[in-house]
Amino acid sequence: MPNRRIHRRAGRIAGAVYAGHRAKGQPVFHLAVETVAGLHGGELGALLADVLEPGRSSWHRGIAHSCAAGVGILSLGDTLMRIETFCRQRAEQKATERRTLDMVPAGEPNAFVPAPNNPLTQLFLLIGEFFWRAAAGFLNGMAAGYLSHLALDAGTPRSIPLLLNGF
Ligand SMILES: [Zn+2]
Repeated sequence: MPNRRIHRRAGRIAGAVYAGHRAKGQPVFHLAVETVAGLHGGELGALLADVLEPGRSSWHRGIAHSCAAGVGILSLGDTLMRIETFCRQRAEQKATERRTLDMVPAGEPNAFVPAPNNPLTQLFLLIGEFFWRAAAGFLNGMAAGYLSHLALDAGTPRSIPLLLNGF
């Protein structure tokens, strides 16, 4: 039976690969943030199944370890994509806000600069952008990590149930 260490490693790989794949075509920095977040999400996802159903024996596998759970996650595909889009939009919004704050009208060095243009606001916007990008990758990674757990357990002699223990 794959142990925690193997699940964790497989989850990290699955999470990073999938999140990175989903972020393909994005600027390198965004891709990097989503991939690293995916690695952590994958780790959590891979450990989740055994948190829900602790692996005391290979008979522990119930609904959280079932094919049904796997199909459930796969059928979340569309929803996951919508959440991913939402997260990236929020990140872009923060980035735009930050850029707008940066702008001082050309040729008017003494122009009035809006009050919120201070380093702290800039920092918060940057953290916000980072958070939303990471959230997109984390979520994708978590789904992939959970599936990697099911795939590993399914490959063992006792495999995983279709729906419930013994079924
Ligand atoms: Zn397990």
